[in-house]
Amino acid sequence: MFTLDETNRPTLSAGGQIEQIGLSPKLVARDADGTVLLRRDWENNTSLDHAALLKELFDWGVDHLGDREVIAIGHRVVHGGTRFAAPCLIDAEVLHALDDLCSLAPLHQPHNLAGIRAVNAIAPDLPQIACFDTAFHHDRAAVATRFAIPRALHEQGIRRYGFHGLSYEYIARRLREIDPAMAEGRVIVAHLGNGASLCGIREGRSVDTTMGFTALDGLMMGTRSGAIDPGVILHFQTALGMSAAEVEDLLYKRSGLLGVSGISSDMRALAASNAVEAEEAIELFAWRAAREAGGLMSSLEGLDGLVFTAGIGENNAGIRTRICQRLAWTGLVLDEAANIRGEAIISAPESAVTVRIIRTDEERMIALHTIRVLG
Ligand code: AMP
Repeated sequence: MFTLDETNRPTLSAGGQIEQIGLSPKLVARDADGTVLLRRDWENNTSLDHAALLKELFDWGVDHLGDREVIAIGHRVVHGGTRFAAPCLIDAEVLHALDDLCSLAPLHQPHNLAGIRAVNAIAPDLPQIACFDTAFHHDRAAVATRFAIPRALHEQGIRRYGFHGLSYEYIARRLREIDPAMAEGRVIVAHLGNGASLCGIREGRSVDTTMGFTALDGLMMGTRSGAIDPGVILHFQTALGMSAAEVEDLLYKRSGLLGVSGISSDMRALAASNAVEAEEAIELFAWRAAREAGGLMSSLEGLDGLVFTAGIGENNAGIRTRICQRLAWTGLVLDEAANIRGEAIISAPESAVTVRIIRTDEERMIALHTIRVLG
């Protein structure tokens, strides 16, 4: 929740999340300093849906804002397909078009749209803005969007879209403010969280990214496999007799750091473990990230800057070291002391690649888009 000053600059008033909808829902809201303002837990309450929980949040939000008025709600929508290249006001026609995209992101898009519908029911006249995770990648060269499959399928939308766009857009924007020279160059942003991807950005625009048709592609993640030989999936189905639902569950929920370590999907837990399997999972995570970075360097035709962001990228010095060591051939020289302290710049002065840590802020990006669309 952001409030606006007289110049329309957004200031964070409260942030939080609703989790485990349909299981044991939890709602938490914190102020800008992280102090908990609201915490509600509903143990084993499977009947509380998006609409009921959003009503709870909305009522609290209106109360929290006091005499300030809610002027709009911005939504993160995972998939904008080929049509939505920029944030837009949601009306019935847009909502219908977004419904049609559910088949491209069945695990995420229906939940995003449920949130929009819930707000529609609570406050039908309140403007709602959709901000797409795919939009930042919309204008990449055609070659970066194509799979080597029959072209009719590409026309049907089976193509590489890319995700985490709101995070990349925020970082590109922030870079323009703090390091205009780097922002004009060739930069890889490593968004390393539970979900993880890399984006090659040149002059502030996405050139190539590791996620493709779905957010399953590319890097190894907390519980997701990342890119995998498609023949393995055929093998699961034909030789092991797995159903599509079982393959989906395996690749989205039981793979990645969790699958390889057999311990946890959480990098902090793995870093604290002495188990060989934890070390193997961490090393594979870093190896895969460095390998994909090499691919993006080809797309970018070089590299001037590297930015680490999201939970692991912002906080885990060990992972940053492993990835940077694997990229030493580029002339990248890490300043290990600065890295351990988590400073803004963690490369040495003589490094051919400037390495930065920037905290991502997707919510602020959504707020900025919402203000802009409202005009
Ligand atoms: P995210 O999805 O961006 O919230 O990132 C979640 C991942 O970041 C998990 O693997 C966490 O272990 C890791 N992470 C978050 N905070 C920290 C921290 N302070 N130190 C190390 N790892 C962290």
